[in-house]
Amino acid sequence: MGKVRDSGTPPPYLPARTSRPSPEDQVRFIANIERILSEGSFVATYKYALLVALVELAIERGDDSNRELVLAVRDIADKFAELYWRQAAPYEAGGVSGIGLVLHQNKGKQAGAITRLARLRDDLKGSRSTLAEARRTADWERLVGRMRTLLKTMPLGKLQRVGHEDVCFLYEKPDTKANHITLLPGVACHLRERAPLIRRLAQTEWLRFVLSLEQNQPVLGRAVGLSEFLFGSSRAALSLKVSEPLRELQRGRCFYCQRSLSSAAAVDHFIPWSRYPRDLAHNLVLAHGTCNSRKSDLLGGEVYLGRWAEFVSDHDADLLSIGTDAGLLVDRATSVSVAEWSYGHAERVQAEVWLGGTEYGHLSAGWRGLMPPISGRGL
Ligand SMILES: [Zn+2]
Repeated sequence: MGKVRDSGTPPPYLPARTSRPSPEDQVRFIANIERILSEGSFVATYKYALLVALVELAIERGDDSNRELVLAVRDIADKFAELYWRQAAPYEAGGVSGIGLVLHQNKGKQAGAITRLARLRDDLKGSRSTLAEARRTADWERLVGRMRTLLKTMPLGKLQRVGHEDVCFLYEKPDTKANHITLLPGVACHLRERAPLIRRLAQTEWLRFVLSLEQNQPVLGRAVGLSEFLFGSSRAALSLKVSEPLRELQRGRCFYCQRSLSSAAAVDHFIPWSRYPRDLAHNLVLAHGTCNSRKSDLLGGEVYLGRWAEFVSDHDADLLSIGTDAGLLVDRATSVSVAEWSYGHAERVQAEVWLGGTEYGHLSAGWRGLMPPISGRGL
């Protein structure tokens, strides 16, 4: 933690809000960063790069007061281009650049930022050119101009989009004509204070995104296997083991919409895997593929929490035997504690929850009353 400066009387020209953000503010800020990284939708890596760019600019231009920080979009664009510079070189397994493949950073065709930088690299005689050399060319300035347009039309407006709402905690949503953004009071200070953590979070998600793209498989295929192996859930195996018994328990109906399930159904982690990456038998339900993907990484609303509470209470013994047969961890008390933690967190950060169909909303304080008892009924 940095030292809190107490300089007695503040200089008269500074507004009163120049004191540092409180610890509670910091916790809320990191929770919001987590939300945009885990609940935002990503079709390209631009939002990760933008977040890292803001961290670096806050370090370079900001101070440790609670003040606003005005940043020219042109300067963000310059930083943005710099972050992508090394990534636009062809990648070869082993992490060296050479004649390999320029990694894709977009779900569809290659990200425009990468294409332009790769072209500039080519013009400057390929991978031997350095960033410092590139920056001295007139082409760099043109490139930054293009990045500026790209930033305005895409990531600047979308970075703070979480699910179906905007959480503007970094800066007010800019219009596409604005030439600058203003980091809200305290934001630059937060970014400076937690820079290593925020950068690491953004880079981890960035890496994961690049690893997941189909187009990168020729050079990254094995690494994807590794990531799944280290951190993933074997969905296929899970589905094979618990689909049928869960279908029976749910009387052939989707846990969420209650309509009848076709033969292909998805095993859903009631508390999403992204929040709690462990397969606990009591946390699994069977749902339509569409219901499962609409819920995505969100929590289900209170109706679903109530239904789940009833489900695990009524079927405790069944879930115990399904889980045991499937070789899963069976721990009802832990499942309930995890749900309590997750809903409590969602309420505190006002996370979006899925209400069914294409409806999304927020939790009321009433969710606590819906929680099942920790110990099983009749045990
Ligand atoms: Zn359904």
